[in-house]
Amino acid sequence: MASIFTKIIQGEIPCEKIIETDSEIAFLDIMPCAEGHTLVIPKLEVKRLEDLPESEALSLMRTMQHVAKAVSAAFDGIDYNLILNNGANAGQEVEHVHFHVLPRPQGSSRPFHQRAKYAEGEMQEVGAKIRNCL
Ligand code: AMP
Repeated sequence: MASIFTKIIQGEIPCEKIIETDSEIAFLDIMPCAEGHTLVIPKLEVKRLEDLPESEALSLMRTMQHVAKAVSAAFDGIDYNLILNNGANAGQEVEHVHFHVLPRPQGSSRPFHQRAKYAEGEMQEVGAKIRNCL
């Protein structure tokens, strides 16, 4: 089912893109839990992880590792969570499978507890910082 992520994949709405491959795209979350909070999504329009063909799931994992390494390196080797909200009861709001790469600064609150928008220009700076580490 089409969602806002379909529009991002098709370039109809902007995003701070970290990387794009034949099968995936990664971009900064617009309402981050922490600086560098990144979403990694398959281009295939599926809602749940188990709906992805195995080859696409493996490719997604490869890209996720690449992106997660860059996110961590961009923030001096910061720790992070990889989170998949799979279904509404698990907190999934956008019905297109996506992994959150969620940096965890020391003392950070539990995932999705606190969010704050980037200040003007900050999202582009953070995106550049991560892309430099790919
Ligand atoms: P979930 O609750 O796991 O479905 O997470 C969906 C995520 O997508 C949330 O963290 C949102 O902040 C994020 N999001 C929604 N719209 C956009 C957008 N246009 N650009 C970037 N991130 C978005």
